[in-house]
Amino acid sequence: MTTPIRYELIKTDKQTGARLGVVHTPHGSFETPTFMPVGTLATVKTMSPEDLESMGANIILSNTYHLWLRPGEDIIKEAGGLHKFMNWDGAILTDSGGFQVFSLSDMRKITEEGVHFRNHLNGEKLFLSPEKAMQIQNDLGSDIMMAFDECPPYPATHEYMKQSVERTSRWAERCLAAHARPDVQGLFGIIQGGEYEDLRKQSAQDLISLDLPGYAVGGLSVGEPKDVMNRVLEFTTPLMPSNKPRYLMGVGSPDSLIDGAIRGIDMFDCVLPTRIARNGTCMTSSGRLVVRNAKYARDFGPIDENCDCHVCRNYTRAYIRHLIKCNETFGFRLTTYHNLYFLLKLMEQVRQAIREDRLGDFKEEFFEQYGLNKPDAKNF
Ligand SMILES: [Zn+2]
Repeated sequence: MTTPIRYELIKTDKQTGARLGVVHTPHGSFETPTFMPVGTLATVKTMSPEDLESMGANIILSNTYHLWLRPGEDIIKEAGGLHKFMNWDGAILTDSGGFQVFSLSDMRKITEEGVHFRNHLNGEKLFLSPEKAMQIQNDLGSDIMMAFDECPPYPATHEYMKQSVERTSRWAERCLAAHARPDVQGLFGIIQGGEYEDLRKQSAQDLISLDLPGYAVGGLSVGEPKDVMNRVLEFTTPLMPSNKPRYLMGVGSPDSLIDGAIRGIDMFDCVLPTRIARNGTCMTSSGRLVVRNAKYARDFGPIDENCDCHVCRNYTRAYIRHLIKCNETFGFRLTTYHNLYFLLKLMEQVRQAIREDRLGDFKEEFFEQYGLNKPDAKNF
């Protein structure tokens, strides 16, 4: 059977080993390493598909759990799938719903069959299983679907994590068996195992035996320190097939994107740039900037003088601060656009550095300018 998702390796960076590649999907191809903006409810909050296209996004992520509850996957299927429903012709990745079940719901019970929990909106009893997660994602029609997994909190004991990894492997087999459209939608497996090397190895081996078209590293960016994440990636990515895309879930701070790419990751997603944008915080080439702060009230310069996005070319910090202070939607649009553009541009710079075998140098320069070499540096 031909897979709908194909990875092509272009080259590796001589300084770091980072990969430059292309992922081909039924809705176009994109170069990697790349960042995927998150459109939880079939919209990247405040952005139109035209905005996303203009900033160079060619794959976005949407959340199975949220779309299952509202408007319901049956309505999206009836619309002709998620691409048609939201008028987005690029690639779409959907998560399995697992992470939301574990993070949003506190009334949950995990069984071999699946997870019983309560709807975070109205308390209604719900049940999500590998089969149900596949049926919803098949109805949504995403290009890349994620296997239903358990994402245990950090820290978890070795004993608990081992049971969880084994269950996640059994659930992945059930996902593959239930996948109704393998010719047009690619199913990715999620390697779990927390910070334990033996369990990451076991998880990778189990999932790789299913010969899925791509693999993700899950269970990171859940509260562990950065050095733990980097260490886990260092022993996990070498376990992953080199001829398939590698996706690090839920990571989106500039330093983690660079550190992840250096450790062989191709795809990233995170709500960070869009979420902080709605709080009036911007990512800039010299670090984060809280544009809602009073000191910008009379600052008529752009958010980032080194950014060539349409927001930085046309609007001032003073204006954007004013809009955000007044809760004007347009202000959130402007900061969101800039932050996404900034990360997409960063990934373009990372790809260019790999092309020129200088990602190690690029990292040094970027960290220095972003203020990440200071001992009290923030994550973004
Ligand atoms: Zn900008």
